[in-house]
Amino acid sequence: MSELESVSSITVESSPTILLAEDDPVTRMLMTRFLKKAGYEVDAVANGSEALDRMTRRYYPMLVTDWEMPEMDGVSLCKAIRNLQLDGYVYALLLTARDSKENIIAGLEAGADDYLVKPVHEAELIARLNAGRRILNLEQSLRAANQRNRILSITDALTGTYNRRYLMEQLPRELERCRRYGYPLSVLMCDIDHFKRINDNHGHVAGDEVLQQFASRAQKFIRTNSDWIARYGGEEFLVVLPETGHEGAVAVAEKIRGLTASTPFATRAGEAEVTASFGVASTGPAGPDIALKVDTLIRTADECLYRSKLEGRDRTIGMEMAVTQSILAHA
Ligand code: GH3
Ligand code: MG
Ligand code: MG
Ligand code: MG
Repeated sequence: MSELESVSSITVESSPTILLAEDDPVTRMLMTRFLKKAGYEVDAVANGSEALDRMTRRYYPMLVTDWEMPEMDGVSLCKAIRNLQLDGYVYALLLTARDSKENIIAGLEAGADDYLVKPVHEAELIARLNAGRRILNLEQSLRAANQRNRILSITDALTGTYNRRYLMEQLPRELERCRRYGYPLSVLMCDIDHFKRINDNHGHVAGDEVLQQFASRAQKFIRTNSDWIARYGGEEFLVVLPETGHEGAVAVAEKIRGLTASTPFATRAGEAEVTASFGVASTGPAGPDIALKVDTLIRTADECLYRSKLEGRDRTIGMEMAVTQSILAHA
């Protein structure tokens, strides 16, 4: 899934499910009963290792755990969950018969958010859990805000494609990945022809619409899970095709070029006839050469694009960056 589509759907429900770890069956039953009465869903287990196992299977926003339990005690459990990569924060409340300051400090330092000394006072436990929910809700809205900011920072506002910042961050990773696994990698540099004229003849707003539609047309011809598009500059886009060799990449460029030229773009200022030129740079079938850099890949695509412009526009010129570099032209 691309990063733009991967906004987390994890939310803390109005009555979150509590994972309760308590070895004493009677206490476990009684606590389950009153937590449910307070409106919580409860999954109850008998020790820390069972709780840890549950935690790795699904996200529990809240954990209520006894300290003294066989196999894995509550403090070890708190330590262990703080080392897991979970889908959200876990609010952990430790129940303890040990009320010395040293023990309480040890529990909190192990990762518990709060503690209660047994025997537990029902109303106090619920009040503390409700306070925990406020923290969870805050944490969740912070997480969502961070995700929104991240998406804004890597998205081109006009076309919704990735922006150049993302390109320069992600393309080196794609190159490295293809190098490691020995897969080819191709990039297409696309530039709308005589775009200035489109702006001049139809207006800047129509020009913007052409850019948006060009991006969404290009999107149709690429694989949603691996390929992606970034706006490189004003009317230039770079399409990144991991695990795609030269022939395949030229075919993608030709499909985008074909649709662009054959179907006028509908804008508020009327129909606009548009063509675009393409430069394709690909590694050899065995993947990027050890010395190949992102800059070289982009520069090669750009040089091919430049030649497409010189040779009359509305065409694709590509170069496979194997040991013997070959040049292919399509119009
Ligand atoms: P060529 O065929 O050689 O590529 O010619 P061109 O006119 O497309 O290229 P040039 O680089 O000379 O002009 C690009 C134009 O794109 C100039 C600029 O005003 C316009 N442009 C850049 N960004 C935007 C934008 O976001 N919206 C609109 N409407 N126009 C833009
Ligand atoms: Mg116990
Ligand atoms: Mg340009
Ligand atoms: Mg142009």
